[in-house]
Amino acid sequence: MITKEQFQQAIEQRDAAEKVINEYTKQSRDAFAARWERFDKHNEYFTDSDLIYSATSRCKKCEAGLAYPKGCDPWHQWTCSGVLKGIGTDKGHTALPFSMYEVLSEQQPSANGETTRPNRELDSKSSV
Ligand SMILES: [Zn+2]
Repeated sequence: MITKEQFQQAIEQRDAAEKVINEYTKQSRDAFAARWERFDKHNEYFTDSDLIYSATSRCKKCEAGLAYPKGCDPWHQWTCSGVLKGIGTDKGHTALPFSMYEVLSEQQPSANGETTRPNRELDSKSSV
């Protein structure tokens, strides 16, 4: 039998946990927003170790693999990795919003190890 005190204590623990979760989520969101601004406004490009690549989907313009930066928001997009790495700075590279396109990530088990990531051997040694 759960007492009223135990019930009350559980609610307080839940509220404290929610506060930690919400603060952590906010910190992560702010950190990514700051990182994206450094990319977008100050040409601080991403490296392969910052990116999650698609299994097979590539940019329609330059054939580089599509990718997104680790830690991005759920409303971000798959982008030409050449653009993210500062190689493709001209217009017309592929960008597909997560909310509108289903792109298979290299991290999905159903990708069976396929990836559009260049230099796979080098990247497997970097931290995730
Ligand atoms: Zn491209």
